[in-house]
This record gives sequence, C-alpha cells and structure tokens, in this order.
Amino acid sequence: YGDYDQRIDYMFKVVVIGDSAVGKSQILSRFAKNEFSLDSKSTIGVEFQTRTIAIDNKTIKTQIWDTAGQERYRAVTSAYYRGALGAMLVYDITKRQSFDHVARWLEELRGHADNNIVIMLIGNKCDLRDMRAVPEEDAKEFAQREGLFFFETSALEAINVETAFITALTEIYRIVS
Ligand code: GDP
Ligand code: MG
Repeated sequence: YGDYDQRIDYMFKVVVIGDSAVGKSQILSRFAKNEFSLDSKSTIGVEFQTRTIAIDNKTIKTQIWDTAGQERYRAVTSAYYRGALGAMLVYDITKRQSFDHVARWLEELRGHADNNIVIMLIGNKCDLRDMRAVPEEDAKEFAQREGLFFFETSALEAINVETAFITALTEIYRIVS
C-alpha cells in the first residue's frame, strides 16, 4: 500500500461512478488505503486517491477518481471521464433503484469516455445479505449483455474489492501493453 519511490511504468486513471450512497468512496478507500470509515462523510474536495501496484513485473500507479458528491446533481463533467482507462460502476445490492440507474450511468459513460474503456460493474454491500433487493443473477446477465466485468463486493468486510480492481487493472494493462 501507499506510494514508494520507484520507476513508474504506467499510470492508469480509473473513475468510480454510480448513484449516491452506494459506497463508492468506501470502495475507493478500501482499495487505496485498506480502510473503511464508519463516519462516512461526503468527500467534497477530494479528487482522487492513488495506489501503486505491480502487474507482470511492471509498476503501475493507479489514480482513482471519486465523484465527491457530484452524482447528486448529475454534474459529473467530461473532465472527470477524460483519459480514464477504467470505470467502476457501482450499485447497492439492497437498493433496486441504484441498479435500475446503472443503464443510465453506462449511457453517460459511453457518451463521455474512451471507446475501449474497461468497465467493472460492482454490486456493493454484499455483507447485507438479508436486505438484498437485486438478485446476483440479474446483474450477471446485464453485465454479460453489455460486455462488462462484474463482482459483488463489500467495502465494509473487504470482500472482492481488491479482486475487482485488480481484474479491471489487469485488463487495462492487457489492452495498453
Ligand atoms: P458514496 O456516496 O457512493 O460515495 O457512498 P459512501 O462510500 O459514502 O457510503 C454510503 C454509506 O454506505 C455509508 O454509510 C457507508 O458506511 C455505507 N457503506 C459503504 N460500503 C458499504 C458496504 O460494503 N457495506 C455496508 N454495510 N455499508 C457500506
Ligand atoms: Mg462519496
């Protein structure tokens, strides 16, 4: 974790999008710092976090951008998407509406981002098993139809967050290398 002084072979920009309160900021902080903050305030002012990883003996610095509350006003601008090689599109498995909005986010993404952007669909809060409102199968089918990668995650319990990011970053690496 953290950044260390080393030659950087690649720099990947990844954006995190999805409805408000689905857990985007917590997913980001889980991946970047292995932290989950119980007192999750809005992240106004924080633009991105970084984590440096190694794939195939290459040092890859990832810059992961957070919408920082803009999603509430549908004010995510094209500057946010510019240069992004990957997108984590997050919904909350306990909030049907956040899954229904995924198609809209996808449309926005495809309108603004690069054509070959790697998209990872993420059903977050999978720790809240008893409150599930979106069957995993529905999301799987949607992802398959739209050509997206898909994982259910829990930022709280650190389930699949690492795997989802590493899968997306490995695919980006495969495309750019
Ligand atoms: P954002 O608006 O999409 O950035 O969402 P936040 O990251 O601020 O999280 C919104 C709320 O969901 C906060 O109360 C978090 O503590 C909670 N939350 C985020 N991820 C999880 C998770 O994996 N499991 C559970 N149970 N709660 C989560
Ligand atoms: Mg947030």
